[in-house]
Amino acid sequence: MAKSIVYWLALALLVTFSSVASARAETAEDMPPVYYHVDKNGRQSIEQVIDKELNFWDVLNQRAASFGYTSDTYWFHFNLPAADYDRVMRIAYPLLDNVDIYFVQNNQVIQRTIVGDEQEFSQRPISSRNFVVPIATRDSVAVYMKVATSSSMRVPISIWQPTKLLSDEQLVTTATALYFGLIICMIVYNLFSFSLTRDPYFAYYSAYILAIGLLLAGLDGSGYQYLWSNFEWLQSKAIPIFGSIAFIFASLVASHILQTKERSPKLHRGLQGVMVLAGLSFLASILLPYEWMIQWILILAIGAAALLICTGISLWQQGLGYARIYTLALSVLLSTIVINALGYLGLFESFFIQSYLIMLGSAFEIMLLSLILAMRFNENRKERLAAEKRLSSRLEVKVKQRTEELEAVMRKLKEMNKKLEVKSNEDRLTKLFNRGVLDEDLPLEVRRARRTGYDIAIVMIDIDHFKKVNDKYGHPVGDEVLVELARLLKVHFRRAGDRIYRYGGEEFVILMPGAQELGCHDKVLAVMDVIRSHSFKTERGAVKITISAGMSLLNSLPGHVASKHLLEAADKALYEAKNAGRDQIRIARPATDVSDNS
Ligand code: GH3
Ligand code: MG
Ligand code: MG
Repeated sequence: MAKSIVYWLALALLVTFSSVASARAETAEDMPPVYYHVDKNGRQSIEQVIDKELNFWDVLNQRAASFGYTSDTYWFHFNLPAADYDRVMRIAYPLLDNVDIYFVQNNQVIQRTIVGDEQEFSQRPISSRNFVVPIATRDSVAVYMKVATSSSMRVPISIWQPTKLLSDEQLVTTATALYFGLIICMIVYNLFSFSLTRDPYFAYYSAYILAIGLLLAGLDGSGYQYLWSNFEWLQSKAIPIFGSIAFIFASLVASHILQTKERSPKLHRGLQGVMVLAGLSFLASILLPYEWMIQWILILAIGAAALLICTGISLWQQGLGYARIYTLALSVLLSTIVINALGYLGLFESFFIQSYLIMLGSAFEIMLLSLILAMRFNENRKERLAAEKRLSSRLEVKVKQRTEELEAVMRKLKEMNKKLEVKSNEDRLTKLFNRGVLDEDLPLEVRRARRTGYDIAIVMIDIDHFKKVNDKYGHPVGDEVLVELARLLKVHFRRAGDRIYRYGGEEFVILMPGAQELGCHDKVLAVMDVIRSHSFKTERGAVKITISAGMSLLNSLPGHVASKHLLEAADKALYEAKNAGRDQIRIARPATDVSDNS
């Protein structure tokens, strides 16, 4: 995706700019030979150079009309032949400080014009970002120029018919407007992104584009023409000031895009160093003269550019996707700057390259970086969402785990409670209900019986002469007998609602709700028969026993008796059965001493 956007971007830019470049049909007049002379201390006057011998002058190679940064003053001179139309002279390097131009005929100065960016813009004879000066006469005229500047000594002179220059400048203006239009769009776009996302890097990037835009406007002269016409001070310092700001934000944005803090702390410290140096340069640019600062700014620029490119390549090699696009974008910009610089050195002369190449490179870089910034933001957002998702799903799993664990514990607890309850209700030896359960059950059953009108029978059973069994066979055998008896009782008293309790040592109680006297009586007799004839198999051989039983019935007791009286009555009946010789059943009859006090 990113790749195809890069291709389309490059294509669109190239088509736009090259169409502007190829539309330049108008050409300048043929230039006569130009001569120059170095005036070391700048003290020479026009009178001293007029009509000098030819050996006073050196021939200027127009293709390399650049002498670099120098504190010397330069004189330029050429003889313009006569023409039958008006002409203007253009010096297409808007950073020259002071250009003193003399038009001389017959050793007489017929016109003197001073231009340069030390002057207010409104003083220029023709409003143009370059220096354009009308030529005083259509006759042949000798032109002398005294140039002093703290910027590069570069004097690209051309002579034009005014109408041709007009259409030429219009094309230049269009291309320039195109570039600055793009710059403004990108600033606004990134500020919008900032206001929507609150990601400060969009704001930093806007600041970077603004600084680059102002830097190029300064270099190109259009800044002085349109933005700071009344501020010569700013024009004289525009390049170091905006250059420093551009490097501060370039490093800031690069460190973010390339994630140097996490991925390469060494390079990160390097970028921070650049930021500090650029910050100091910014302050120094305000306070110190241009000619001191410009050299330093160029050194800083070369160092910073090298560091930025190294950072890009290093992180590209670490496999960071953006680093490739970043390096590409930066290399394009730097190559255009290098090519431009080669032009300045006189290796070739191309108006197109000198005018537009850096703009083209910087437009390309700005758009690409903006693309990466948006991609990086998007990826950050995706990473954040994924992390949140991972976290919440981990949390969900944990909650589920904990819930399951809790449920398991609860289940276990329930089981244990149940077991505990059974244990507490159960007689350990016989596994019948114990006496405690009888104490709870009986009042409930009595109340229910009163509600429904059904009868309740209580049968109390006691083994006859059990002591003898113990004495004869030992206690463990006695236990075996008890267990077996319990089993027999369970087998025979199995009607719904019947419950059997171990009441004491060898005493049992059978609770029979809804029973009738006759049925109960017969049932107990039948069970007594079974027991009497049953051989209780023990480790000491078969044991025989009999039981005695006492029975009481709720409805046969007078009035509203309490449940304990029911038991007492059964116990009393049992006692009677014992007394009567054992192995028999007695039924409790109403006695006068059983009172109704339940
Ligand atoms: P009877 O009831 O016919 O009057 O004579 P008995 O010998 O059964 O008399 P008693 O009720 O006084 O004695 C009960 C005996 O039952 C006393 C004790 O040795 C025995 N016994 C009570 N609980 C247990 C028990 O859990 N295991 C065994 N092996 N013996 C028990
Ligand atoms: Mg007993
Ligand atoms: Mg007994």
